[in-house]
Amino acid sequence: MLEIKNLTVSIDGRPILDDLNLTVRDGEVAAIMGPNGTGKSTLSYVIAGRKDYTVESGEILLDGVDLLGLEPDVRAAKGVFLAFQYPLEIPGVATMTFLKAALNAQRKQRGEEELSTPELMKRVKAGAEKLEIKPDMLKRALNVGFSGGEKKRMDILQMALLEPTLAILDETDSGLDIDALRVVAAGVNALRSPKRSFLIITHYQRLLDYIVPDTVHVMAKGRIAKTGGADLALELEKSGYRDYVADAA
Ligand code: ADP
Ligand code: MG
Ligand code: MG
Repeated sequence: MLEIKNLTVSIDGRPILDDLNLTVRDGEVAAIMGPNGTGKSTLSYVIAGRKDYTVESGEILLDGVDLLGLEPDVRAAKGVFLAFQYPLEIPGVATMTFLKAALNAQRKQRGEEELSTPELMKRVKAGAEKLEIKPDMLKRALNVGFSGGEKKRMDILQMALLEPTLAILDETDSGLDIDALRVVAAGVNALRSPKRSFLIITHYQRLLDYIVPDTVHVMAKGRIAKTGGADLALELEKSGYRDYVADAA
């Protein structure tokens, strides 16, 4: 379970997250929606441990452990996965090699043995097949020349292999055509499990037609302004964020 308590975060002295509280239970798929510039990406980066931000106060507990004192790779070993944090193109590194390195880094951090190459290949191929990723893409350099949809499928493949406890997807839907959106959503849905929590960040309701959330939170001005069920996303699609961004009279 993820419990964020009274989280206040600033960048260069400017407050971005303001006393934010959020709980995501095990097995829950929570969506965060909200206008541009309200701190949604900041929240995901702070959970993952990116350094540009100053945490003024608060806690981010994952299964009772405060993540804030931990390095990003330790957080990853504890099961935090942020998709699209690094939409890296890595010339000269075959995708398969990258996936092997990512998986073995996590295993090492956990004190587990490296995967054998045949075991790794088996897992990657099985995952790739489900996501309709062609085998020859795994031989190509990571993300180099991949289309937007291919990059995102590759990210979901990485997520599937790392088996996160908390998976954060920040605007997965941007730049996806409908077919890629369906494949990515099916990949995410296949990973839903009673032990895994998802935080799905999106501007638009469209993605939530395919990944139906248990909970929808509206984020505005650096905090959670409203919480509801999947129907809240539909309501927002009609009304927009006007009510949340307007200053109280
Ligand atoms: P959202 O994802 O909701 O669109 P962001 O978290 O990206 O919002 O941004 C929240 C605010 O923080 C914005 O005003 C943005 O300009 C600012 N911000 C985000 N990252 C940085 C940064 N590295 N340096 C300075 N300002 C930043
Ligand atoms: Mg932004
Ligand atoms: Mg953002």
